[in-house]
Amino acid sequence: MDSTPTPKVDPDLILNSQVAQGMAVIGDRWAFMIIRDVYLGVRQFEGFRRRNNIARGTLASRLKSLVDNEILYKHPYQETPTRYEYRLTERGLDMYPILLMSWAWETKWGKGRFLPPQLTHDVCGKSMHPRLRCGQCHLDITPREVRFKAGKYGHSAKRVGPRHQRRSKSKEEFVTGSGEKAFTMLDIIGDRWTSLVIAAAFFGLQRYDDIAASIGIATNILADRLKLLVKIGVLNRVAYKERPQRFEYHLSEMGRDLYSYTVTIHEWADRWLIPDGRSPLVLRHIPCDAPLLSEVVCSECEQSLVPSEVSFDMETRHRAAIQ
Ligand SMILES: [Zn+2]
Ligand SMILES: [Zn+2]
Repeated sequence: MDSTPTPKVDPDLILNSQVAQGMAVIGDRWAFMIIRDVYLGVRQFEGFRRRNNIARGTLASRLKSLVDNEILYKHPYQETPTRYEYRLTERGLDMYPILLMSWAWETKWGKGRFLPPQLTHDVCGKSMHPRLRCGQCHLDITPREVRFKAGKYGHSAKRVGPRHQRRSKSKEEFVTGSGEKAFTMLDIIGDRWTSLVIAAAFFGLQRYDDIAASIGIATNILADRLKLLVKIGVLNRVAYKERPQRFEYHLSEMGRDLYSYTVTIHEWADRWLIPDGRSPLVLRHIPCDAPLLSEVVCSECEQSLVPSEVSFDMETRHRAAIQ
């Protein structure tokens, strides 16, 4: 049993962090599904609707917010009547590492059936896994080898916690046709509270009260999300005290594997949402003692991955044709 003392984390640090700010823009189950679908080649309203069985109103509002947040833009593809398709902006295209890391996690641990089962790197011609490594020393990035500290503005930025508290029924929405529970990446990241609980775990917080205090979450919602994360297998519930019995929540291997994904969100938010020099949280890679700057490379040839050079099979083989 691990009984390391809980690290001190400033109450606002997690809520101000780049991950929290990134999640405020993309951290919605439907929004993330849409972004993912655009990367898979879906462009049109009906296409999104059919693939995800999403209500029209919900789809329209998520597309609007993705356009407002400059992740997608509308491109007319037909006149009289004018019809639009949705394409990725530069900011949206820069989310590719996030998509690759979510694919990697999902194909290893998830049970979703809506992603291509394999990716081929056209440069080396091999089936590959995207790997997140340090751009400086080229070692894989692991949570133990990254140090964080609050930036100069870490405590003064506005809090960006979830705007409203959703009903806690996310678990029941993802039962597949056969009645089998299908946990996917979206169960974890499609809900900002869940993401914040995972972020707190990466900050080393393991106890209920510490997590609650660090992200300002209502206790019933926290209890619900912890239960969900234990059920999925992202967290392990470990007793650290008897009479009265008390538990800590430790990241499992599955949970620690979410770190790469978390780092890509952090870096994306740093590039697009945070004014220069105002990073709430600064990360350093311990092995090379440099500011963390990651890159996603092919597991086979170690070249950087770009969307136009990665192809995949869905129903038919096609390239992630961007633009
Ligand atoms: Zn390094
Ligand atoms: Zn390759």
